[in-house]
Amino acid sequence: MADENYAQQTVRRAREAEQASPSGRLPVPSYASWESFPYEGELQVRPVSDVVLPEPPRHGEGSVDCHACAAQDEQYVWTDEHWRLRSTAEPTGLPVVLLLEPREHVDLHDLPVALRAGMGDLLCRVEAAITSLGGIARVHVSRIGDGAEHLHWWFMARPEGLVQARGSFAVEWDDLLPPRPRDQWEADLQRVAAAMRG
Ligand SMILES: [Zn+2]
Repeated sequence: MADENYAQQTVRRAREAEQASPSGRLPVPSYASWESFPYEGELQVRPVSDVVLPEPPRHGEGSVDCHACAAQDEQYVWTDEHWRLRSTAEPTGLPVVLLLEPREHVDLHDLPVALRAGMGDLLCRVEAAITSLGGIARVHVSRIGDGAEHLHWWFMARPEGLVQARGSFAVEWDDLLPPRPRDQWEADLQRVAAAMRG
């Protein structure tokens, strides 16, 4: 099977595991019993899908119709010469969820060398600005990048004391929890902006 790519190898192994399982599905992982896992009841793993090649394009590929490129600075919480920090369009279940984007339409692998060190500094500054709100136990920082080609770093604030939402399932809890009142959310975004300017 040396001519198989990683995806083909993965799907073949998954199919074998599905066929060997009494339910015909991959087993539900142990984390489904964790308190942080947001769902309960009878669960089953989706059948593993076929490999899709070539992959469908990501949003804004080649900077065509890219929302990030088209957005004005006024839509952002904070900007400088090279970077812009925006929030989600609507209030979130978590206190704030922010995205850091370069002005230029680049992904992580083609980020100009001149911007790389500054990006490291900014990741720390954004985390500190969000933490300065107070009552924030952790800021989760991630770059996924499957949705849009334009580089965007996620910052998700997990409130102190919301222990059930610890860890990576905070992303799920953000969607499940009722959104915050808009005025409180907007005030916090202003405070983050002030901390970035400070
Ligand atoms: Zn773009």
